[in-house]
Amino acid sequence: MRLGILLELLSSCSDAYSTGKDGVTMSSVSEAIGSLITPEIRAFFITIIVIIALFYLISIIWVIRDSYLRGANPVVWGLISLIPYLGAFAYAMLRPPMLLADRDEQDLDFTLKQRELMKYGECANCGYPVEREYLMCPQCGTQLKNECKSCGHALNPEWKVCPYCCTPTR
Ligand SMILES: [Zn+2]
Ligand SMILES: [Zn+2]
Repeated sequence: MRLGILLELLSSCSDAYSTGKDGVTMSSVSEAIGSLITPEIRAFFITIIVIIALFYLISIIWVIRDSYLRGANPVVWGLISLIPYLGAFAYAMLRPPMLLADRDEQDLDFTLKQRELMKYGECANCGYPVEREYLMCPQCGTQLKNECKSCGHALNPEWKVCPYCCTPTR
């Protein structure tokens, strides 16, 4: 008799546990979530996360490579670019304006131009670069060369004969 009551009590307890109010609510909520998150939605979110992560990685690579090409410190900028998106954005704002290759080319251009000018020399009075055929300094008006009376070529003052037309200079 006693055992029978005890068994009845135990079974009623387990029934209450499995069909309890909390249990029902929990399972219905998880079911609702499960029906909301379809495989398509999950794939969509995973794709977005992968794209965001990829852009982050690409931004780091871009910063390191670009800072190297522009002669900035790639280690420092690489570390700054680890701040997602903000680092790369800061680099884009502050990076050196010119690529190293371009800068080298510009330096070379400048050197070549200088050399070109050196070939012709400069005004003895003011230092202005002058070309071979200049009779007068374009800047200060100093007479640089004599003009051949016969052919009009510019002649060095020490020349006794015009090398273009063989006319004696005096
Ligand atoms: Zn001059
Ligand atoms: Zn001449």
